[in-house]
Amino acid sequence: MTQKTSDSGDARVRVAIIGSGPAGSYAAGHLLRHSATELHVDLFERLPTPWGLVRAGVAPDHPKIKSVDRIFERTAEHQRLRYFGNVEFGRDLSLEDLRAHYNAIIYAVGTPVDRALGIPGEDLKRSYAATDFVGWYNGHPDFRDHEFDLSGERAIVIGAGNVALDVARMLMLTRHELASTDVADHALEVLAASKINEVLVIARRGPAQAAFTNPELLELGELSAADVQIAQHELALAGGSTDPEADVTARRNVEILEEYAQRKPSGKPRRITLRFLLSPVAIEGHGAVESVTLTRNELVNEGDGSLRARATDERINIAADSVFRAIGYRGTPLPDVPFDERRGVIANAGGRVVDEDGVRRGEYVVGWAKRGPSGVIGTNKKDANDTVDRLLEDLGGGRLLEPAQITDAGLAAYIHERQPAAVDYDQWSRIDRHERKLGEASGRPRIKLTRVQEMLAAAKRK
Ligand code: NAP
Repeated sequence: MTQKTSDSGDARVRVAIIGSGPAGSYAAGHLLRHSATELHVDLFERLPTPWGLVRAGVAPDHPKIKSVDRIFERTAEHQRLRYFGNVEFGRDLSLEDLRAHYNAIIYAVGTPVDRALGIPGEDLKRSYAATDFVGWYNGHPDFRDHEFDLSGERAIVIGAGNVALDVARMLMLTRHELASTDVADHALEVLAASKINEVLVIARRGPAQAAFTNPELLELGELSAADVQIAQHELALAGGSTDPEADVTARRNVEILEEYAQRKPSGKPRRITLRFLLSPVAIEGHGAVESVTLTRNELVNEGDGSLRARATDERINIAADSVFRAIGYRGTPLPDVPFDERRGVIANAGGRVVDEDGVRRGEYVVGWAKRGPSGVIGTNKKDANDTVDRLLEDLGGGRLLEPAQITDAGLAAYIHERQPAAVDYDQWSRIDRHERKLGEASGRPRIKLTRVQEMLAAAKRK
């Protein structure tokens, strides 16, 4: 294994980053740019492959968004950064191990699990968490063996965020469109054979409160095989749908949705229907999804300017063959790391990890694990920089950890003792080249390896 090592300096300031997604990668970049003290960064990743949601979350038909990985590659190639893939915090390395070897630890672990609706029928067959579907079509090893039954004609997507739009769009792309992306091979076949011809996206509040961003909403109106439609009366029900507090994105969303409501179907074989002011109260079926019961909502002012959905007595039932729940993500606790159960994030004050005794020395958090699952990829840059600036203040004030002195080589050996199959950056590059080569023959950006063992085998290939 080739690692960037030096045995010379033992008084190095070392930072461990747990998680190589956007937040962890931006944090690494900001640490490495700090010139007053040369910081040394070890970037740990649970999977052999880096970049978190850029690889396993961004939809396959969004290659431009994925191209941010070039920035992360430049960071990872920095002389003072070492990548350790296939090393899991809590499995291979404990908090105690890290405290013994690093001056600071930054958690960048995201919010990996789906939020539940908490309604009857949620666990029926063909009721799916969007997080699972996204992981599956993106070839994340954790979701490799999930199965999605797309043999029915109508799917309901619950939620009005960008993940709901990703799911709706992925269900409507043609085989031809999918085939030029890096969608996982196992998903390509299932999606291409899908019988779904109608997707209903259900929002519990009105058009002005939807969490979509404008480009994603516009994209929905440009699908080759699906018309987009909205019932005029539902826009009207939402009170003209304008919210005096609405920001520029929300106002533009309303304009786009109003334009969609004017459209006549153009005869495309599939359609996406956006519905508003509806909340699911039960998913029904004999063993598998057959319908969803929803209540009609009205918007009530919470007094602080925000508008909440309140159920009325009106109920409707919509027949459906599958349900995708896209109502947000949630964090999970890490061993020995304080967790804020209410917010579903690592307990922190401005990025400094806190417990009942106050700020924890040398522990920090960035990204979704810090603020919750919000914003686009770029949002994580400022967020990570802010936390790193707190770390640098603490460095200046002598408030970091004081680990035992160890050489780079000694530390690498220690990590390899814990995880002999740790993957370094050169080895990840081999996986990357292998995947791209596999893709070349069929004109695809790459064909992803979707099992950890396959990745480890490719990492060793010369
Ligand atoms: P999100 O943007 O927070 O949207 C979640 C949606 O679920 C909201 O419409 C929310 O409605 C709704 N919801 C929550 N609880 C509900 C319930 N019990 N019943 C019905 N609806 C409920 O989350 P997301 O879509 O998972 O996206 C996560 C983040 O990733 C977002 O910041 C998103 O922009 C980003 N992302 C970006 C892209 C992209 O840039 N292309 C792609 C995917 C994701 P309320 O507003 O009423 O709570």
